[in-house]
Amino acid sequence: MNIKDIGGEFALIKKITQQITDKSIITPIGDDCAVLQYNKDEYLLFTTDMLLEDIHFNFQWFTVEQIGKKAIEVNVSDILAKGGKPKYCVISLGLPENISVELVEELYKGIYKTAEKYNCSIVGGDTNKSEKLIINIAMLGTVKKEKLCLRSGAKTGDLLCLSGYIGSSAAALAILKNKKEQELAAELSRIKNYFTEPTAEIRGEEIAEFATAMIDISDGLASEVHHLCSMSCVGAIIYADKIPIFKEVIDIASSLGNNPLDYALYGGEDFALLFTIPKESLDNLNNIFVIGEIVDKEEEIIIIKDGKKERLENKGYDHFE
Ligand SMILES: [Mg+2]
Repeated sequence: MNIKDIGGEFALIKKITQQITDKSIITPIGDDCAVLQYNKDEYLLFTTDMLLEDIHFNFQWFTVEQIGKKAIEVNVSDILAKGGKPKYCVISLGLPENISVELVEELYKGIYKTAEKYNCSIVGGDTNKSEKLIINIAMLGTVKKEKLCLRSGAKTGDLLCLSGYIGSSAAALAILKNKKEQELAAELSRIKNYFTEPTAEIRGEEIAEFATAMIDISDGLASEVHHLCSMSCVGAIIYADKIPIFKEVIDIASSLGNNPLDYALYGGEDFALLFTIPKESLDNLNNIFVIGEIVDKEEEIIIIKDGKKERLENKGYDHFE
C-alpha cells in the first residue's frame, strides 16, 4: 500500500501515532510543537522540520546561505506559533559525496546568522552521506505556561485572524516554475523574499497573550484552518475578500491565468500566523487581519466568495499526493 492510497501525509501520521500515557507530556503529536513539562513557570516546546534538496529548495532559486536561513526559520515559526521562544537546536545533515567544504560553510553562515537572531544555540547534530542535500533541525523552546497557545482553544464567536499577507511565496514559485522571470521581473522582485527568505512571525508571543488558538501557515491557509478547527472541534466562516493578498500577487496570478486566492489557500510557506481571538480582544492587537469567525462544528468550514458560500476544501501541500 502506498501513502497516497491511505490519504496522504496526515493519514500516515495518524496511523503511526501511538497512545501516550506519560503525564509529563502536555500536548503530543498533532500541534505545531510537542509541549512538555519543564519547570514551575514554563513548558518545554519540541519541534522538528526537514528540508530536502529539490523538494523545499534547489540551488537554482536559492543561495546556499538562504537555504541555511530557511532551515532555522521554519522551526522557529512552530515555536513562535505556540507563544514560545526558541532556545536550542541540533542539526543533522545529509551531504552528497562531492559537496564542497565551502558550500557547507556558506550553509552554516545562514544557519548561525538566523539562530543568533532568535538567541537559539546550536548544541549538536549529525552528518551522513546522502544523494542530495538534506537538512533536518530539531529545536527546543520554552513558553510561559500562561502564554501557551495551542491549536485546540478556538471557541464559537471568536474572530479568525491572520498576522500578515499570504500567497506571496506561492506566487513567486509560480513565476519561477513557469519561467516568467523576465516578463514579471518587477512583481517578482517585490515579493521574492517571501519565497527565498521566509521569516517566522516574531509577534507570536504578543499575539499569544490574546489568542485562544494559533497555528503557523506552512501548507496553505485552507489546510491550517482545517487543522485548527478540527483540534478545536469548531467550524469557521472565511470571507475571501478579507484575506490579505498583495497587489503584486494578484497581478502575477492574472498574468499566469491563476486565481490569487488559490495561492493563499493552497500555496503555503507563508509562515504568517493564523489565530483566533475573542471579539473583545481585537483592540489589543495592531496590524492584524480579521478574515472570518469561528462557528459551531456542525456549520463546517465555509468560505464566502463573490457572495456565494462554498465548503472550503481541506487541501494543502501534501508530499505524498
Ligand atoms: Mg506548524
